[in-house]
Amino acid sequence: MIIVMRADVEPQDVDSVKSKIQELGLEVYESKGINYHIIGLIGDTSHVDDESFKTMRGVEKVIHVQEPFKRASRVFHPENSVINVNGTSIGGEKLAVIAGPCSVESKAQITEIAVEVKKAGAGFLRGGAFKPRTSPYSFQGLKEEGLEYLKYAKEITQLPIVVELMSADKLELFEEHVDVIQIGARNMQNFDLLRAVGQTRKPVLLKRGLSATIEEFLTAAEYILAGGNENVILCERGIRTFETYTRNTLDISAVPVIKKLSHLPVIVDPSHASGIWWMVEPLAMAAIAVGADGLMIEVHNDPKNALCDGNQSITPENFRHLMDRIKDLAKIQNRKI
Ligand code: PEP
Ligand code: MN
Repeated sequence: MIIVMRADVEPQDVDSVKSKIQELGLEVYESKGINYHIIGLIGDTSHVDDESFKTMRGVEKVIHVQEPFKRASRVFHPENSVINVNGTSIGGEKLAVIAGPCSVESKAQITEIAVEVKKAGAGFLRGGAFKPRTSPYSFQGLKEEGLEYLKYAKEITQLPIVVELMSADKLELFEEHVDVIQIGARNMQNFDLLRAVGQTRKPVLLKRGLSATIEEFLTAAEYILAGGNENVILCERGIRTFETYTRNTLDISAVPVIKKLSHLPVIVDPSHASGIWWMVEPLAMAAIAVGADGLMIEVHNDPKNALCDGNQSITPENFRHLMDRIKDLAKIQNRKI
């Protein structure tokens, strides 16, 4: 439930509304812009009497929010959220391009790729150190050593690093060394992990679960926001469908749907969505065309011998090509790259 206050509302009238909400045992969520002043009620509002608010001074109207997500909802927060990562932003005019290998394999590998993607115009470096692999016998990542190599690559390129966190016991380590904490598709509904990253103030990149609906995706984001961490970036990375040609099916319509329902930035990962390297560029173009705030692209200097996700990794040369094409599209969309 939200209460829309009049444009000329007096501060004491706002305070009265807030006190009334607190007396009902509910939490207050306040959102103010140039043309709006909204007070949200968070908690079980099923027994709240609308009339008692409608008659209060300064109240314009009372709106019921059906969705289970509140803080993630655009109704609660009409303006787009822009997430600040070490002085650069995600969700603003500039498109965020996160590029790098699926996994860190060696210091030389991650450094070489980092230098290449930086030259091509990427704004962030990705690299998995702790990998969620389907088989326990597959390469599981270099773990802490991988994190060290990522830090070195960051030092060389100044690119902020995006790394997947698999369990809360590594949170402190990530808070110290990582710029954006990635929560992978397989952990999208790991509620303890979501609560844990909700306690930090580090930006969190939340990937859509393999078979999660958009509502479940936004409600997972709500867990992080409910902990007080407002720095959430969403990532559409394809969902399971009956189609087997591609690894997943990129749900391109999720981008405009999420933009309508939520104020959080949305980026697209065409690499995991397709699983096929030559589809990465056309899907990346589609993502920017429908209004995504950025991309996550797997880039490898030797895809054939990659320890993880080689089939969907593009070479630095193909990444340069993709970036050139995205630049033209960005102009049409009034975005920068
Ligand atoms: C990844 O980004 O390396 C990854 C494992 O992605 P997802 O969680 O989307 O499968
Ligand atoms: Mn991968």
